[in-house]
Amino acid sequence: MHVYICKYCGTMMESSSTPSSSGCPSPDHSSHSWSRICNEGSTEAREGLHAYTCKYCGKLVYCKSTPSSSGCPSPDHSSHSWSRVCDKADPNGKTYQCKKCGVIVKCNSTPSSSGCPQGSHSWHRL
Ligand SMILES: [Zn+2]
Ligand SMILES: [Zn+2]
Ligand SMILES: [Zn+2]
Repeated sequence: MHVYICKYCGTMMESSSTPSSSGCPSPDHSSHSWSRICNEGSTEAREGLHAYTCKYCGKLVYCKSTPSSSGCPSPDHSSHSWSRVCDKADPNGKTYQCKKCGVIVKCNSTPSSSGCPQGSHSWHRL
């Protein structure tokens, strides 16, 4: 599946084609503006995928390779800056949450500290 993100509201969607533009909850825009950030990926942990976080918008995506930089919803940056936080996403693995930015990842080992909007991720196991 492809993964799309709206640069106005930050919603992420897993879809085989570009999602409908209607119903964007952003205060300034009524239509989503979708960018495809991952060709083979998911919004959920799946075998064979890596996990990435963007240090500008704080989003986490599971993808087979580095996601595209387009469509960052951060107010200060238009391009994502992705860091690979987990080599092996594991749907049945341990769940970690960053104490600083709150993002949650399912990974087979302790995720990397790089790519946190608050400096560096500080993971604790849930
Ligand atoms: Zn939107
Ligand atoms: Zn971003
Ligand atoms: Zn973090």
